[in-house]
Amino acid sequence: MAEEEAYELFKEVRWSVNDGDPVCPHCGSVECWTFKSRRIFKCKHCNKQFSVTSGTIFSGRKLQHRDYLLAIAIFVNSCKGVSALQLSRDLGIQYKTAFVLAHKLREVTGDEMQDAVLTGEVEVDGAYFGGYLKPRNWKENRVDRRLRRHQNGKRRCVFAIREREGRVVPVVIKSETSEAVTTAIRKHIDSQASIHADENAAYDALHAQYQMFRINHSRVYSDGEACTNGAEGWFSRLRRAEIGQHHHIAGKYLHSYANEMAYKENRRRQDNGSLFGDLLFKSLNRPMSRNWAGYWQGNNQPGEVLLYPH
Ligand SMILES: [Zn+2]
Repeated sequence: MAEEEAYELFKEVRWSVNDGDPVCPHCGSVECWTFKSRRIFKCKHCNKQFSVTSGTIFSGRKLQHRDYLLAIAIFVNSCKGVSALQLSRDLGIQYKTAFVLAHKLREVTGDEMQDAVLTGEVEVDGAYFGGYLKPRNWKENRVDRRLRRHQNGKRRCVFAIREREGRVVPVVIKSETSEAVTTAIRKHIDSQASIHADENAAYDALHAQYQMFRINHSRVYSDGEACTNGAEGWFSRLRRAEIGQHHHIAGKYLHSYANEMAYKENRRRQDNGSLFGDLLFKSLNRPMSRNWAGYWQGNNQPGEVLLYPH
């Protein structure tokens, strides 16, 4: 696609309510001056200048519009995710630019599940990511890495909440404690729903509030009544992204990778074209990302995004 066509597509998607004609992002006025020589507009009402990407995640853009379209196409096409290094090679841009761009797109993918409430039959399960400890070289120096006192404290639990045959909502917690899973479940599962969970004692307290089905994984994975295989199926996608693409996805941004993989899982039956359209529309109808604007100038996200911080 030529740059001119890409620019027209940006306008059409950004201002779809106004047939692709500019709408002032400052005051909402549709009366604007256009400039022949530059791709900017000036509002007749508030006199402020703006472009098609002002106030979106692409605000302050330096790449061509077609590069962003290509980035979105590569991003949605990669079912196991795409690493920043790969994206930088594909687009011919710097690694740092690709890293921030991919993370801005990940942030967009997280929006829809932020406050989602699941109904019907819902499966829950946790899986642990990160905090890898390399075993010591000499056998006599090796320790039991399963013990908490030998771990480095960086291991985190991605807690998956999934409607049967339906959507996944991921949240990151420190570990599957009763308090953490209860907080996540109260936020994301309707009180009328029935919950399928494994034998972990952290779920015991939920019997008072929800209809619960428990499955003992040391005996069987599906007993015809209870099963959490849907939630676990999604973990394998996140695990493939970790092992195959990113190699290391824990830490401050674990939730972003989990959001990306949930977005892709929830749309796995849609074709690339509709995914592309969806992500482009959401990217252009969402305010500037605070965590990723000026990232390399030191504007990092201050801490982890944990649903339950203890
Ligand atoms: Zn205006």
